[in-house]
Amino acid sequence: MDSKNLSKPAKEPTTKLSEILNGRLNFQGIPLEILIEPSPFGFGRVLLQNKNLLVKTPATVPAAEKSDFCRNQITGWLKAQARSVFNAEVHAMSDKYGFKVNNIAIKDTRSRWGSCSVKTNLNFNWRLIMTPPEVLRYVVIHETAHLEEMNHSERFWALVEKRCPDYQIQRNWLKNHGLAILQWELKI
Ligand SMILES: [Zn+2]
Repeated sequence: MDSKNLSKPAKEPTTKLSEILNGRLNFQGIPLEILIEPSPFGFGRVLLQNKNLLVKTPATVPAAEKSDFCRNQITGWLKAQARSVFNAEVHAMSDKYGFKVNNIAIKDTRSRWGSCSVKTNLNFNWRLIMTPPEVLRYVVIHETAHLEEMNHSERFWALVEKRCPDYQIQRNWLKNHGLAILQWELKI
């Protein structure tokens, strides 16, 4: 600040550009700060910038509905990110290990991380997008290993270990933090 400004009374900006919300959010294991910003458009948008998640909110959203609006925007964004990360991981592994997958679905469940059916359909919990990438990858390795071993036999775990040598670390991470992730709700 230069000396010129010191003589002037402190001026509050007339419009607050961004406002820090109290919501806490982990994205791929990294804590993000949620910032809500006005949008010049009639629709909302979510942008990831460094460690900030910007929620662009149109002026037409009434103040009383702003929290709900932002919550929906952020949840939708997280699910879309989860979908693209799971698709990329499964396709990379299918190229590497030569298995075939029928369908990949992203589920909203509070009880399981993933599943694999005899029809080679894979389901994954979108909440895994909040965990470190190696934890999400372990779940993909676990479920896709079921395409070859539809059980939890020694052969199954040997296959998981071959593809994910530190899988015990990722399993332990889920044991320690999994419940918090499954129960997580965005409070803003
Ligand atoms: Zn399993």
